[in-house]
Amino acid sequence: MQEHRARKRFGQNFLSSPGVIANIVSAINPQPGDCMVEIGPGLAAMTAPLQAALGHMHVVEIDRDLIARLKQNYAPEQLTIHEGDALEFDFGSLAEKNLRIVGNLPYNISTPILFHLSKFAAQVKDMHFMLQKEVVDRMVAEPGGDYGRLSVMLQYRYAMDRLFIVPPGAFVPAPKVDSAIVRMIPRPASALTAKDEALFGDVVTAAFSQRRKMLRNTLKGIVTEAQLEALGIAPTARAETLPVSDYIRIANSLV
Ligand code: SAM
Repeated sequence: MQEHRARKRFGQNFLSSPGVIANIVSAINPQPGDCMVEIGPGLAAMTAPLQAALGHMHVVEIDRDLIARLKQNYAPEQLTIHEGDALEFDFGSLAEKNLRIVGNLPYNISTPILFHLSKFAAQVKDMHFMLQKEVVDRMVAEPGGDYGRLSVMLQYRYAMDRLFIVPPGAFVPAPKVDSAIVRMIPRPASALTAKDEALFGDVVTAAFSQRRKMLRNTLKGIVTEAQLEALGIAPTARAETLPVSDYIRIANSLV
């Protein structure tokens, strides 16, 4: 079969290190009977060992050439291929619960895909993703340096761990930056205490709209200084200093 030329517009960096692939698969720990979907199987570097362990799995791939290869190499009872954009895909249609989602994610859509997947968290058991290390560091950051909207919104919904770092040399073509594997486990519904999640999201987005500004400025029109003080939150504080629980308290005080 002809060699596949990596397409930049689809964020294609293919895993080529057998050791790294084995480490990722062992972190995922696929078990027969798991309902698993891989986003962007590409040339099947991860798909092959995962499918072998599972017997059957789902993939969502956008690149038609790669889809054609997958169809040649796998029978439908081994691999269900969903052709199209993962950003539009209804992951909730695959399983009512305990869905496992994995992927070496295309870096150009990593944040939108994480927000898209949040919609299906109640049906998900766990997710394992390769992302730029810098993005993973922001996802798991505590208040301070790398902490931002992504950290607050994802930490609200998931328990997350950075498992290990993957250097550029593990891919063809090699990306310019380090990558990292993150494990994301949805928190139980009882832990999701924002009464109005859309409002919670609005508060977080407004607070981080200008990181250097004080909350009394960024949250003007949403919450008053007196309301912040009543919650024990300094109106002069900056967004990056507030733990997730404070954002929940602000949002809940407005409902
Ligand atoms: N899993 C393979 C590996 O580890 O070698 C490929 C990883 S590569 C970083 C990203 C993959 O996602 C490519 O196969 C690419 O075609 C696919 N992709 C890019 N954008 C996509 C989208 N919006 N929806 C589904 N797949 C996409």
